[in-house]
Amino acid sequence: MSLRPQRGLDSIQPYVPGKPIGEVKRELGVDDVIKLASNENPFGVSPKALVAMRAALETVNIYPDGASYDVRLAIAKHFGFDLDQVAVGNGADDLILELSMAYLDDGDEVIASRSSFPIYDIYTSAMRAKMVKTPLAPGYRLDLEAMARAITNRTRIVCICNPNNPTGTIVTAAELTRFLRKLPDNALLVLDEAYCEMVDSPEFPDGLGLVREGRKNVIVLRTFSKVFGLAGIRLGYGFAHRDTLAPLFKVKPAFTVNSVAQAAGIAAIEDEEFMRFTVTENRKGREVLYGELRRLGLEYADSHTNFILVKIGPQAIDVQRRLLTYGVIVRPCGGYDLPEFLRISIGTREENERLVAALKSVLRG
Ligand SMILES: *Cc1c(COP(=O)(O)O)cnc(C)c1O
Repeated sequence: MSLRPQRGLDSIQPYVPGKPIGEVKRELGVDDVIKLASNENPFGVSPKALVAMRAALETVNIYPDGASYDVRLAIAKHFGFDLDQVAVGNGADDLILELSMAYLDDGDEVIASRSSFPIYDIYTSAMRAKMVKTPLAPGYRLDLEAMARAITNRTRIVCICNPNNPTGTIVTAAELTRFLRKLPDNALLVLDEAYCEMVDSPEFPDGLGLVREGRKNVIVLRTFSKVFGLAGIRLGYGFAHRDTLAPLFKVKPAFTVNSVAQAAGIAAIEDEEFMRFTVTENRKGREVLYGELRRLGLEYADSHTNFILVKIGPQAIDVQRRLLTYGVIVRPCGGYDLPEFLRISIGTREENERLVAALKSVLRG
């Protein structure tokens, strides 16, 4: 007999992250590479967080606070919640893992869109639960009616990513309200709001309001990875009813959030200036890219985020590969059931110009 991984792993398609810059340099011999593939913050790190992280380095000989008390309190105060309504994780990703461990049994069902963040799939499979996938609605939007129709008595988690990755589109408050009427009390809505700070639509739902109302079957996830420029330090946070979070505290590893990340979060949550700068610059870049994409005759989804889903056609993978030779990394979307599309993160002005120039050469060449 040989070693055998548990059978939940049989159905896992590994998550393929954006290609790292170093890998492209090595493989293609290109010196100057820009990465517009992982929706990172192109304007750098929150300056306030940077100062706090440098100071925190001095004491990394000491274990971090396993309860992450100070950073949770800072987040709770900032948003007007109680401490026990806030969880933090080693990225929002870690909270999704903890949620899966805490709430999924063999044969349970998790509903998500076919064209959404694929991290949910991995943890669902690992728990020997079953992913139930729904297609997109017209306009590259999540189809909440289809998701509601997919609910069965085995449904334990429904994942709604708002705005959605990789489409950049939002679900509206009215759509979410209608959906919640159909969500049973024993199924948890995971409202992933990783990009919510970038949204300015009046139709965007107040996810935190659902938790404030005392609803027990909603958890709102957010992250420091995007608007605060802290993707590399790994810090995500979530809001839910204390009873809903209690099982997460049971399963979480003792020191998931390191002390440098905890210090970063306390400082970053007050760094409105950097957040606003990021959001403003991102909007400008988005308008410029929209114009260029239209001039190239390319269709795209209406984005409320720092990335744009662009329709390339059957040659999408080929275009993505050829962009690499120009030192431009973008994200293919086959794994999101959108094989004819590329997801392009909005960069700095210079990066956007390089992308456009490379895209023009590739499409014309
Ligand atoms: C980037 C992103 C996150 C954040 O992940 P972290 O683990 O906090 O870096 C969560 N959900 C979605 C949809 C994302 O795109």
